Amino acid sequence: MADRQSPPEVDRVAASRRAVAARRERASLKRDVSTRVISPQELLRRALAEPASAAGAMRVTEFLTSIPAIGEGKRDRILADLGISPVKRLAGLGARQRVALQEFLDRRWPEIAPRASRSRLVVLAGPTAVGKGTVAAHIKQRHPEIHLSVSATTRQPRPGEIDGVHYFFVDDAQFDRLIDSGALLEHATVHNRHRYGTPREPIDRALSEGKTVLLEIDLQGARQVRAAEPAATLVFLLPPSWDELVQRLVGRGTEGEEERARRLRTARVELSAQGEFDYRVVNDEVDRAADEVVSLAR
Ligand code: 5GP
Repeated sequence: MADRQSPPEVDRVAASRRAVAARRERASLKRDVSTRVISPQELLRRALAEPASAAGAMRVTEFLTSIPAIGEGKRDRILADLGISPVKRLAGLGARQRVALQEFLDRRWPEIAPRASRSRLVVLAGPTAVGKGTVAAHIKQRHPEIHLSVSATTRQPRPGEIDGVHYFFVDDAQFDRLIDSGALLEHATVHNRHRYGTPREPIDRALSEGKTVLLEIDLQGARQVRAAEPAATLVFLLPPSWDELVQRLVGRGTEGEEERARRLRTARVELSAQGEFDYRVVNDEVDRAADEVVSLAR
């Protein structure tokens, strides 16, 4: 007869595998906060939205020490000030403790609050390889009522890309003319290589027809749009984790080794700008992320 006291061997093995996977996931999240891939607020949001997730299971002590500039001494003082017991897990925080922790984080690492009045001009930015293009293409297919801007670029078309549909492919002299004539709402050199820019006229036309306009552009471009059109809605697309972002970049296989390293360096810098955006959307699943962007656009 089976021993009733201890679970069968297979269950124990499965449980210990699950525990190792959960620990690994928590370690990866902590690394993402310490390297500023995600903000502490973003991790707390994930923990509260999904209490059973790795974020939810994280101890408040681990959470705080993953934040740059918080060591163990500071951590203990913060917890005492906020009235939070060190054994608490993020998902287990009481309502008042959540608010206290959130307010503490917002004081230390301010994220801008979404503006009350926003225009229908929506900018989707985010680090390289996060899947901005896929999310934008998904929105274009499912929501023909949303006008997706077609950019001009000096880079060569990739296989399957059509001039006028994916980009307007132009040479350097043509791009210079677009800038000089004021035809671009914003423009930037991306990854230190090719130039990209947003033609202004189709956007003005679509907005005047009452349409929502979506721009899928890089961070420098997003900042220029903010300066030119302060009421624009800025959405930052986040990877579920840094490891996932690296996977996506390697998996795409369209860039060589050197180009990949260059893009990863850019991605790190770009991720640290997420606090400048009105909204952050995690691209865990394309359908879901696209729906969230559309709902923000409305
Ligand atoms: P790709 O060459 O892979 O199509 O795009 C490279 C990067 O250029 C992406 O991050 C994309 O968001 C960005 N990009 C595409 N169009 C524009 C644009 O009109 N303006 C700016 N600033 N960036 C763009």
